[in-house]
Amino acid sequence: MRNFQFSFPLTVLLFLLFSSCSKDEIVEQANFFPNVAPELQTYFEEFEYQGALRSIQINLADANIIGKIEELGEEHVAGQCTYGAAIDNEITIDKGFWNDFPQLLVREMVVFHELGHCYLDRGHTEGAKSNGACISIMRSGLGDCFDNYNSATRVAYLDELFSNL
Ligand SMILES: [Zn+2]
Repeated sequence: MRNFQFSFPLTVLLFLLFSSCSKDEIVEQANFFPNVAPELQTYFEEFEYQGALRSIQINLADANIIGKIEELGEEHVAGQCTYGAAIDNEITIDKGFWNDFPQLLVREMVVFHELGHCYLDRGHTEGAKSNGACISIMRSGLGDCFDNYNSATRVAYLDELFSNL
């Protein structure tokens, strides 16, 4: 059974704990999703938790979403979602991006963006607010808006993510 009682700060704490453990312990303690890389587990769990906060039941393990961290060939691509009728949806996060951006919220934005495609079936949402910030973390990256996902804006961006389904 999924456990939704983790608050965000606790998840952060767990993440910090896991990242200081040995590799074997990471696999043993954080393997809630069998087909997801250990580093991505807390982000998948947080995605389910944030959905539950908004009355959306999400079960990424039942949906068989695969999560990997691998080198993506394309320049400036941090993550991708691969999907199709005959395959399980698969998220791949670029290894170079992952290593270059240890900040939890930067990583979360990218993982949640890909889960937005691969689980929520969302396409891209373009557009900017009056201050030039993107209206959605589902932006393509090709428009003029800038990313502004931080601790002050996170709740509003997640409200947007889970409401335009
Ligand atoms: Zn995208």
